[in-house]
Amino acid sequence: MLLTLRSTLTTLLGAACAVSAIAMAQDSEPAHKKGTIIEGTVNIYDYSPDETGTDPDIAGQLAAIGPVGQQWYQHVMTLSNPYFEGRAPGSDGIAAAANYVEFWMRHAGLEPGFPAKEGESERTTYRQPFELPGAGPKVVDSAVSIGDSALKSGQDYIVLGSSGSASVTAPLAFAGYAIESGRDGYTSFKDDSEDLKGRIAVFFRYEPINQEGVSRWSERRWSEHSAAAPKLEALAKRGAVGVIMVTPPDARDARRGLESTATSRFGDRLTIPAAQLSIEAMDALIQQADPNARTLAEWRQQADEGAVTTVPLKDSVQVTLKAELTTGTISTDNIGGVLRGAGSLADEWVIVGSHYDHVGFGNYGADPRNRGKLHPGADDNASGTAAMLCMTKLMSDWYGSDSAPKDRRSVLFMAFSAEEVGLDGSRHWTEHPTLKQESINAMVNLDMVGRMRNDELVVGGVGSAKGFKDWLRPRFEESGLTIRADLSGRGPSDHASFYSAGIPVLSLFTGVHDVYHKPGDHGWTVNPGGASKVITLAESITKGLASEPKLEFEGKTAGSGQDRGYAKVRLGVSPGYAETGQQGVVVEAVSDGTSAAEAGIKKGDVLLSWNGELLEGAGDMMDHLRKHAPGDKVKIKLRRDGKDIELDVTMKASKPRG
Ligand SMILES: [Zn+2]
Repeated sequence: MLLTLRSTLTTLLGAACAVSAIAMAQDSEPAHKKGTIIEGTVNIYDYSPDETGTDPDIAGQLAAIGPVGQQWYQHVMTLSNPYFEGRAPGSDGIAAAANYVEFWMRHAGLEPGFPAKEGESERTTYRQPFELPGAGPKVVDSAVSIGDSALKSGQDYIVLGSSGSASVTAPLAFAGYAIESGRDGYTSFKDDSEDLKGRIAVFFRYEPINQEGVSRWSERRWSEHSAAAPKLEALAKRGAVGVIMVTPPDARDARRGLESTATSRFGDRLTIPAAQLSIEAMDALIQQADPNARTLAEWRQQADEGAVTTVPLKDSVQVTLKAELTTGTISTDNIGGVLRGAGSLADEWVIVGSHYDHVGFGNYGADPRNRGKLHPGADDNASGTAAMLCMTKLMSDWYGSDSAPKDRRSVLFMAFSAEEVGLDGSRHWTEHPTLKQESINAMVNLDMVGRMRNDELVVGGVGSAKGFKDWLRPRFEESGLTIRADLSGRGPSDHASFYSAGIPVLSLFTGVHDVYHKPGDHGWTVNPGGASKVITLAESITKGLASEPKLEFEGKTAGSGQDRGYAKVRLGVSPGYAETGQQGVVVEAVSDGTSAAEAGIKKGDVLLSWNGELLEGAGDMMDHLRKHAPGDKVKIKLRRDGKDIELDVTMKASKPRG
């Protein structure tokens, strides 16, 4: 079944990302609808090689998406590979992704994009490093010892990213899978038990498994009961003074070894110390602490059967658990490469950007229930990074060909980091620009271009330069796509940083979907044929921006510093696309526990005004949100079942960083 935009909107306003604030332009025709359904277009949800025959036509499939789509697809599949760990700033995964991006920039013949030091004119490096505040805990000191014998950090144990900074010496208690309530009445805890009080709780990762090491509760991998964050909370709530996680012996999961501190930030930071022990170290320890000297495998079997709840172990076996973590800054890089222009325009610039970071294991910018799970970020934003990389090659080829105009601007291609944290990478660049602002013609942003449906594309920033819409019109028409043109240069992605700096912007975006910021944003769900159409359009626009008369910025610059992608408060509604001519913001969904939910805003409401100011679209609402602090009270007028109602809404904070 074809999923429409309307039914798949899942984003939440206030999260800094590519999706929430795109509203349709009010003064343009809905689109240059050609009314044609292009044969061969695939719906992303059923995109896969034809499996009906014994000999699937792979060659035919690849031919259909064309050479650009082929290359793009390979980039997306690579960048969304688990090896890249969801590309959270500070992780090994994003460091690998940065190397990947730099490799392909060099491969396309781009020169280094940045000077080594701010203010220098010579460009010698592809990296623009910057610091990110408090985005991940780092271990300063740690120890796990049993009596006098100390375990080895990194080999026998690691400190969990959710650990508090504390040191305790206490006996152990076994807590099974630490599942409060699982399938069929399963629980790891008995009511009113004091078993964990003052003890270090030992618990299994995941959930009960069968003899094959596979979940008893889920056909595929693990059920929601396996999530680590609620387990840690349940143990702390029951008085544990420390926690030790261990992988159940023989569980069938690639994550059998020790995590790293960076990848084990499950939920909110605890106040008690938390560690993961290797299976071997825990096996030895639990045998020593158990009066009956049971092995870890035996304990596991009991927990699998639901035959055991919490059990205090020998008081004589005292374990010391010590962890000291800081949430200092972490370093990350924008990646940039330059394609040199020529002739009289060589010192002017076009910027093509895309963010290459994502939310890693979902410890920020994701549904709390998915914390600890890998978020591959194929559409968000391996897709845009891949499109940008494809463009380095296309533009480079064009500049090297006879058909290139004599006078052409230089192009700075950039892959931004830390977009998901709050547009930090692009804002770092605009606050520490490596080019003179007057020399920049425009910035083109590619964020989430991998899931085209019905040949529809949202283009933002169409009103960010004088006459831009008319300039763009023939290119839009030539694309054969249905363009949803949004005049605003704002929006929750990197182009907003450039728009705030007074630079004309254009953002290309194929829409939100049900796995937006979810672990399901996999490489195999994207639409390569659609992406190649986006790239073709972006290429045509960038060629124009590189050679035609310079645009003149139109719009409001930041000034107050409030026009930024990141809002301190969050309303908690998913906005829908307004019908043409319709005023207000249609509420597609309301998230539990948010400002909107508590004020009584419901699905289907149309938000009309904000403290008396008309809301023309979701973009307006973002602007309002950016001006508020948690605790502010706002009067929102809305229409429900044909009646206008006014509600008092108390603004709650958006998800904290890191
Ligand atoms: Zn995102």
